[in-house]
Amino acid sequence: MTSCIFCQIIERAVPSAKIYEDEHVYAFMDIMPTTEGHVLLIPKKHIENIYDFSEEDAANFFKAAPKIANALKAEFRPAGLNLLQNNGAPAGQSVFHYHMHFIPRYDETDGFQLSTWETKHTTYTPEKIQELADKIRSVLA
Ligand code: AMP
Ligand code: ZN
Repeated sequence: MTSCIFCQIIERAVPSAKIYEDEHVYAFMDIMPTTEGHVLLIPKKHIENIYDFSEEDAANFFKAAPKIANALKAEFRPAGLNLLQNNGAPAGQSVFHYHMHFIPRYDETDGFQLSTWETKHTTYTPEKIQELADKIRSVLA
């Protein structure tokens, strides 16, 4: 049997509170939710992180995202919704089967914060930002 906990959930070897599935994706409640309605959306194929998606895998995955978002909006009427997705342990990934967190937001006291996003506008001048854009564009070309 696979050692991946999310593959085990898809195979029903491990229980989950499923909210949606189709041929390509499975969505279920996070077992350690941060806010009311915290959901995970995963591809049925074992894909470790964003780098491993084919274009087709990505299209199949992301077309389900608005459906999940709109279901959460309809049910919980949150003030906002954060989509969060971690790639690699240093970025906070703890389960190495790609997943997107859907975190409904209610107010500043709802327990989820992105307040440590330090902006470095003195380091990243407009010239430096343009230089970085040129580098990335050259990889994409
Ligand atoms: P991340 O840190 O982005 O890799 O998030 C992994 C998430 O998976 C965490 O929020 C966990 O609470 C959640 N999680 C881990 N195991 C399970 C499980 N068996 N059922 C539901 N959620 C899980
Ligand atoms: Zn897996």
